[in-house]
Amino acid sequence: VLHLDLDAFFASVEQRDKPSLRGKPVVVGGVGQRGVVATASYEARVFGVRSAMPAHEARRRCPNAAFLAGRFGAYREASALVMARLRALSPLVEPLSLDEAFVDLRAAESVTAFDAVTLQQVVDDLRAAVTAATGGLTASVGVATSKFMAKVASELAKPDGSRIVAAGSEVGLLRPMKVGVIPGVGPVTADKLHRVGIHRVGDLQTVPLDELAQVLGRNHAVALVELAHARDDRPVEPEREAKSISVEDTFERDLVNLDELASILRRDARQVAGRLAAAGLFARTVTLKVRRHDFSTLTRSRTLLSATDRAEVISAVAASLLDAVDVTEGVRLLGVGVAGLTDVLQEDLFSAGLPSDVEELEAEPAVDPRAGDEIAAEPEPRRRPSWVPGADVQHERHGAGWVWGAGVGRVTVRFETRASGPGPVRTFSLDDPELRLVSG
Ligand SMILES: [Mg+2]
Repeated sequence: VLHLDLDAFFASVEQRDKPSLRGKPVVVGGVGQRGVVATASYEARVFGVRSAMPAHEARRRCPNAAFLAGRFGAYREASALVMARLRALSPLVEPLSLDEAFVDLRAAESVTAFDAVTLQQVVDDLRAAVTAATGGLTASVGVATSKFMAKVASELAKPDGSRIVAAGSEVGLLRPMKVGVIPGVGPVTADKLHRVGIHRVGDLQTVPLDELAQVLGRNHAVALVELAHARDDRPVEPEREAKSISVEDTFERDLVNLDELASILRRDARQVAGRLAAAGLFARTVTLKVRRHDFSTLTRSRTLLSATDRAEVISAVAASLLDAVDVTEGVRLLGVGVAGLTDVLQEDLFSAGLPSDVEELEAEPAVDPRAGDEIAAEPEPRRRPSWVPGADVQHERHGAGWVWGAGVGRVTVRFETRASGPGPVRTFSLDDPELRLVSG
């Protein structure tokens, strides 16, 4: 199994497209009073800035960093190029998030043998292809006999490196690592383990199962001991992307009351969240389905920047999708669904307090293969872009640039692009007719 993970993904895309930020600390997602850091560039990490850190803490640690709102369109475009490279290598690709995927190399035509020399060549070629395709982004790659070990290996390889774990060396490699390296060992579990003297994976490799079962319960204990011995036979699942969970209600009479519809959405969202939790999954896309009084059926969906299993998030997104649908003449059926399922939790960074313009980053019509009876969904109107730091702009005379800062009726733009060198900064009135935001 090969695991590829792009390095400091969001921040690297910003540095690629904004030459003046190359080699400098960049924090994506740290905009707004209650903002949370989504990604910090390696230059910002030197100052102790980390993902999921509150923006005010990141600003305290690294006041000179560029704090930028996310540009989901640019991230999604880069991600698609990377996933295409992976699919050219093997048909069995399981994306985990925009910047991360597993690949089953047994299905790769170009992998003629599984010796170290052949694999290293495959990995080197892949990393070079990813960098070329994305205009300079770097990826770290791990290869091992299982998903778990491949992910451990890519983590060891970071940044901009590769690591191949030879079959048979897994247990020894894991032995000195902290227990937190095992998926399913979060702070709470780690704390329980520490209290009984278990700190390293090696401790888990030797602790009697019954003893561990008393601390964690038998199922959890068995799962951890298996992984501590690098026993992980989960297959790479390319179809996982397509899976979805949904709940819908058909009403005996057409509903028109918005409060009533809202409370149905909340209930449906709780059910969907419950099913996600039961399956141990998180969803990246929320879908709303509405059948109106005249039987016209619409689906609307929105993709989040990071996966969630929280009922409040699903419910809030579904409610905002419903806001854009005309339901004045009554609703016959209402449904809430999720897709883009993953078993890897990325904290829901972008819903944690960014300005609302940044929070809702993507809107596109849902494509539901089972929905043969449905009228093609109209794309939901995009949220109006705003002058958030980092946003792309176009000026009729000065060309392409990005919002460096804005306030009191004025906006400062740096005119530079991926292909230019670092460019000049100019300030304009916000109502300058020659200047416009480019949605991204
Ligand atoms: Mg990454």
